[in-house]
This record gives sequence, C-alpha cells and structure tokens, in this order.
Amino acid sequence: MAWFKKVRKPIEAPADKSRVPEGLWVKCPSCGQIIYNKDLAASLSVCTKCSHHFRLSAGERLQSLFDGEWDEHDSGLASTDPLRFTDTKPYRSRLDAGVEITGLKDAVITATGAIGGLTCAVAAMEYGFIGGSMGVVVGEKITRAIERAIARRYPVIIVSCSGGARMMEGALSLMQMAKISGALARLDRARLPYISILTDPTTGGVTASFAMLGDVNIAEPKALIGFAGPRVIEQTIRQKLPEGFQRSEFLLEHGMLDLVIDRRELKDTVVRILRFTGAGRQEPARTLHSETTA
Ligand SMILES: [Zn+2]
Repeated sequence: MAWFKKVRKPIEAPADKSRVPEGLWVKCPSCGQIIYNKDLAASLSVCTKCSHHFRLSAGERLQSLFDGEWDEHDSGLASTDPLRFTDTKPYRSRLDAGVEITGLKDAVITATGAIGGLTCAVAAMEYGFIGGSMGVVVGEKITRAIERAIARRYPVIIVSCSGGARMMEGALSLMQMAKISGALARLDRARLPYISILTDPTTGGVTASFAMLGDVNIAEPKALIGFAGPRVIEQTIRQKLPEGFQRSEFLLEHGMLDLVIDRRELKDTVVRILRFTGAGRQEPARTLHSETTA
C-alpha cells in the first residue's frame, strides 16, 4: 500500500477574462479599475486607465476597422470533421459549441468594405471559436479572400487572433499554412499590399505563416506572439528566457515587427499605410453586393 498518494488535479481551463462580460461594469484584469461597459465599448475595449487591451470578437474587430457596412463572404463554409477526431471530446461537439458561442460557422470572418474610403479585403479571426484555431475552413476562407482581392485589386488586411493550427484536423490544418502563404505570394506578385495585424494571442502555425508575412506587421500592445510556448522553449534550449519574451514590445525591439500600435490609433495608422501604397482606390464595396459569395 502506498503511504503517499499523488492527488491528480485536473488542469482547469483559465477563465476567459479578456472577453467583455455581459454586466454593466467590467473589472480590468490588469489594473483592477472598474469600467462602465459603455465607456469600454467607446474606447474600443481598451482600459481607460491603464490601456489594457481586452480581446475583441471578429465582428467587433471589423466594426473597429470598417467605415460602415461591409460585405461578408463565404459565411456558409463549415468543417466536415474529416478525421472523425476525438480527444477528450469529439471534434464534432467542439464545433457545435463554437457555433453556439460565436454564432459563426468557423474561426474567421472574411469581408470587403471601405477603410478610410479605400476598399479592402479584411479577414478577422475569432478566438471564441476553438481558440481561433486554423483548420481547413479558416485556410479556405482566407485564401479566397486573398484571391478575391487579387481579382479586384484590393489590399488585404488579416487580423490574427489564434492559438495556431487546429490539431483536430491533423495535417490538413498544417497544409493551410502553405496554401495561404502561396496566395499571399500571388498577391505580392500582383503588387498589392498586405497588412498583418497581430493581436493577443498569435501563436503556432498562424505566426509561422501568414501573420508574419505582412508587408507591414503591426501588433497591439502587450500581445502574446510566438510559435511554441515559453516552457517548451526553456526545456529545449535549457536557458532562462528574458523578461517580456514573446510580447509585442520585445518583438518590435528585436526586429520581428514593424509597429506596435494602440488599438485606438490602429485604424488611422492602417489608413495612412493604405494611402501611402495607393491601393484600394476603387468604387465603394457596396456596389459589389450581388456577387459576394463565389
Ligand atoms: Zn486597466
């Protein structure tokens, strides 16, 4: 009989602190300030005291970037669970839960609309849908968005917010890295700009492919950006990692990013960059409404 028994505690999922809760008041997880939720919405979910950036949903993100209405594309695409994958739960039930939480069929919204009067193709990732993971649907929707942009001569903006490739789709999810990167190479050959916006968190296969391929790579302050987690790296290289490792500011200092911009100034910065490139100067997107879904 063993005298000492290790009690195994299941790993608790961290409470999703960064989403804006339903109540009237929100407590900032960084400085503890109690903020009226309308004030928080007015400041694009940035803490008015310490500038902590709360996570935005894909819909809120599009709203923060576009001038007004936008046309959504391929909203009907959904994963078919090609591997019939089950870990602690069947992948099918994770997909259903994602649909219920976010109202989306997968972890990205792709849309066309005007930003500062310039028509752009934008893809915004949704962290609430299985951690914003990149599966076949995310890969296909982003690829189609880029191809549409090439055909219509629009600049592309991708807002990443993702835990990386979706392991429940195995190698099929990894193939999306090459597929999207290939489409971005064609965009580059068509001499159209791509702005990558990296938000908290941008990790794994998303960082290792399209998130780092922007003509301009912009991050939000203090966003976690990396490939593998810090513990895995420490164990592999057997060295202590420096403070602030894998945060936007550290990456900017080490040449991995071009800009770290407060969300409240993000749109103006994007517009300045787009004007500089001269791309997207077409008629407004609304005229394209009838031909949105390919
Ligand atoms: Zn705060």
